[in-house]
Amino acid sequence: MVQQTSSCQYIPTDQQKTGTPLIYGENLSHTFHAKQDVVAVNKVDFGITEGKITAIIGESGSGKSTLLKLIYGLLEPSSGEVRYRGWLVPTRKDKLIPGHDAMRLVSQGFDDLNLYAKIWDNIASQLPNTDLALKESKTRETLDRLKILHLGQQRIADLSGGEKQRVAIARALVNEPEVLLMDEPFNQVDAAFRDALQQDIRRIVEETGLTVLLVSHDPTEVLAMADELIVMKNAKIIEQGPPATLYYTPTHSYTAQLLARSNILSSDQAALLGISSHHTIGIHQEDVIFEEHAQGPFQVKDIRFRGFYKELVLTNGQLALHAILHPLSNIAIGSNVVVNIKKYITFY
Ligand code: ADP
Ligand code: MG
Repeated sequence: MVQQTSSCQYIPTDQQKTGTPLIYGENLSHTFHAKQDVVAVNKVDFGITEGKITAIIGESGSGKSTLLKLIYGLLEPSSGEVRYRGWLVPTRKDKLIPGHDAMRLVSQGFDDLNLYAKIWDNIASQLPNTDLALKESKTRETLDRLKILHLGQQRIADLSGGEKQRVAIARALVNEPEVLLMDEPFNQVDAAFRDALQQDIRRIVEETGLTVLLVSHDPTEVLAMADELIVMKNAKIIEQGPPATLYYTPTHSYTAQLLARSNILSSDQAALLGISSHHTIGIHQEDVIFEEHAQGPFQVKDIRFRGFYKELVLTNGQLALHAILHPLSNIAIGSNVVVNIKKYITFY
């Protein structure tokens, strides 16, 4: 991959910081000055590793898209800085064409695509006409990499959401950026095709050393794909780590709910399960073991069909626990059960 030049050509006073991760944010904030001031990103610090897939996850409105735009240089930091290879990311005030030269952003929706042009032309138009053979081979290679070469002669307007997303990614990748940024890239992709696209992006990262940074409000869809998660809540980064670490040992109950739809219990509620804790605890649904028993203190209040599993709501007075039932098992609403907690997480 081509090593892009530093930002010093845009910001002459900048000094490169050494020893930082590929993308590095320090005390980074952004405030929107609308009718009221909105602090969308509030003094965050982070590092993003080269050649990995990092996902920014969090509720809607938590600041994910704003953080992505700060990283790309589309927004001006209100405080702090963001650096790429140790150099400040230039913004609109430094640079005529917005966006970092080494990065490409696939935006939400398909704004960048020419709906009535062919797939092939949407990609090829990104390349100069100085070397037509190279233009042809690059376009072919990129379409092939995204598994859409066979669609080359079709119009964008005739494609499914998943296929359009593949074209949008191909369009971003044809110029061989070092970083691919994507905002909610799987929104328009049917669940059945999501996994294949995610695994294809993984393969491209492994083959090319590309760094991917994506935003998702549904972290369960990126758990299998990302190497690293950045969790945002109310404009703050509350934790960062590998998916399995954040899934099994989250520091915040928010993360446990987001990743595992975990049961969050106060210490009083925990006591009803025989768990003595001075702190809030979290119990993942798959760790709630239950058995039908005529004298069991819990009752099956509700059964929610989730496809390949059923989600049970078990209640005991004020306490409601969500648990998982294998689809081949059966239990009737109103049944009494005993509950056994396999493990829980303490939130200090
Ligand atoms: P997310 O991507 O996590 O849903 P955003 O980064 O889009 O969150 O937004 C974070 C906060 O900033 C929200 O409160 C949102 O309403 C506000 N916001 C986003 N863009 C603008 C804007 N252009 N002007 C004013 N407020 C904005
Ligand atoms: Mg957003």
